[in-house]
Amino acid sequence: MAIFAGKLNLFQAMRKITADWIFPVAAAPVQAGVLIVDDAGKILAIESRTQHEAGDLEVFHGAIVPGFVNTHCHLELSHMLGKVDTGTGLIPFITGVVTKRNVAQELITEAINNANQEMLDGGIVALGDISNAPDTFAVKALGKMRYYTFIELFDFLQDAGAEKAFADWSAVYDQLALAPGSAKSMVPHAPYTVSKTLFEKINAFNAASGITVSIHNQETPPENTLFLDKTGDFIEFYGRFGVSLEQFEATGQPSIYYALRNMNPQNRTLFVHNTLSTREDIQAAHAWSDQVYWATCPNANLYIENRLPNYQAFLDTQARVTVGTDSLTSNWQLSILEELKTIARYQSYVPFETMLRWATLNGAEALGFQDTLGSFAPGKTPGVLLLEHLSATGGIQAQTSVRRLV
Ligand SMILES: [Zn+2]
Repeated sequence: MAIFAGKLNLFQAMRKITADWIFPVAAAPVQAGVLIVDDAGKILAIESRTQHEAGDLEVFHGAIVPGFVNTHCHLELSHMLGKVDTGTGLIPFITGVVTKRNVAQELITEAINNANQEMLDGGIVALGDISNAPDTFAVKALGKMRYYTFIELFDFLQDAGAEKAFADWSAVYDQLALAPGSAKSMVPHAPYTVSKTLFEKINAFNAASGITVSIHNQETPPENTLFLDKTGDFIEFYGRFGVSLEQFEATGQPSIYYALRNMNPQNRTLFVHNTLSTREDIQAAHAWSDQVYWATCPNANLYIENRLPNYQAFLDTQARVTVGTDSLTSNWQLSILEELKTIARYQSYVPFETMLRWATLNGAEALGFQDTLGSFAPGKTPGVLLLEHLSATGGIQAQTSVRRLV
């Protein structure tokens, strides 16, 4: 009988995976549940162990969760691992990136391929990735995960430079051939680098529905002071690169309000970092659009600025938080689990299931990939991960590890 059942399973090419807990994310967790998956990784059902013969099951200890979605990375900067100092603040960091970015193409390509594999091995099934150049387009064409490529534009707040910036990056955008399931858009870099004219061009380009637009937001104190009263380190930064801010006028409000006034609330908007965002800032964005997502990259925030967002403000405002790794220029690895460990270490009041939703379904929705990813719902192919060595209360701790099962 057991042999026959085994043959039947082989014919049907099903896997029956069970562990202490299964977290479907969009539904309540199931203790000792059985996740039934076909040979293409499609979720068929979640059932109870009592419905199955023990010999048919793959049994694990730990928690079974959907694949992770990494909503913020710059895969093309992977070759800069360890090149820029930690803890110096955003402006010295950007200066380091600009001045140390150019190396041999083979090294760039090799680092991109290794970083992409590192993410696949760590359970990442989709990536929101910033591109200024076409260096990552070859690996993205292989389609090993779903990519949302954000071609990133900036003109250093110079309206006169908007047209050239738009033309140059349109050429990069056109070079990206999309693998099935992937997507692309043109996006503004940050409030402190994009003129009103360039915002208008980007908005006009992204007029179709269902587009995600990403923007770096409120990552460092000088970003806010530039907009509040035109003071702070960005003045000197621009001066050093010979860029005049003579025409720039302070708005008297934190930087995010400039973004809200110049972006299109009909797009899905992914604000990235938000290290300094307050409850009021978050609420203002929610009042502006019902399609707002907040990507947090805690390890990059520690790497660059040695500070973290106040997650309580995001919990209090029911903000849809997602998780990103940022790039290897500002991180020690590209692992969503390591990002969750950092949140658990420094702000342990964030519940495990909340963090899990940030790392899976919220990210999938932010990228418009929730049709196949983000939760264990029948018909989806979200990837299947095993989290092992959770704490006694089922939380993430330093020893927690991840294995990709599907
Ligand atoms: Zn970034």
